[in-house]
Amino acid sequence: MRILLTNDDGIRAPGLQALALVAAKLGEVWIVAPDRERSACGHSLTMRDPLRVHAWEWPGAKAFEVNGVPADCVNVGRDLMAGEVDLVLSGINAGPNLGFDVTYSGTVAGAMEGCMAGVRSIAISLACFVEGAPRHWETAIEWLDANLRTLIELEMPELTFLNINIPSIAAAEIAGMRICGTGKRVYEDRIERREDPWGRGYYWQGGVAVLHPEGEGTDVDAIGEGTVSVSPLKLDWSCAATVAAIQQQLR
Ligand code: MN
Repeated sequence: MRILLTNDDGIRAPGLQALALVAAKLGEVWIVAPDRERSACGHSLTMRDPLRVHAWEWPGAKAFEVNGVPADCVNVGRDLMAGEVDLVLSGINAGPNLGFDVTYSGTVAGAMEGCMAGVRSIAISLACFVEGAPRHWETAIEWLDANLRTLIELEMPELTFLNINIPSIAAAEIAGMRICGTGKRVYEDRIERREDPWGRGYYWQGGVAVLHPEGEGTDVDAIGEGTVSVSPLKLDWSCAATVAAIQQQLR
């Protein structure tokens, strides 16, 4: 199996190293990752600037850094691999990608791009919520070693990929896996107005995530309970019910 790895935390990220260790046990590993952190870039593409590719020393894998975002990396990677890609793995992101995060996430976008190209694709994130809190990469590695092969071999409909979030806790505390949909995760105080040393106003976005676990059985819910969430996501944003409802209203 030929596996293409990417991420949005950049080629130096520990999560990518963790993912490479897991992937090496499953097949031939190619790494094509951004040259720096590109978190929250969403499913953007670099179109007005050239993409430069540089080989990167990586024991046991062919690795390249690209001055682009994850979707760029998947496209460059497919070319480098002469189109022979059996699996795209994106991550392991340092932080959760739950609920609405999937639209902001570069990690999820990497899997989306692979999925659109018709390749089995999986996004993987380590759900650590607090800056400076311990990042249990070893938990992610252990869980993926035990479960990833099964998930890869699942029968999946067209244009569908998996989004996995692993709680950042000790492996022994993981309370199993839940196959679930995405919940709501909104941010409080998302945008902050500040002043620079010259008295000019500027904005900085961040904010504290507020989890809404009331939607029973969502990914947000699962992570809150120390469970690994596995959410199948579909690349079809259209709402069939609303198409019919609007047609009905305009009749
Ligand atoms: Mn990231």
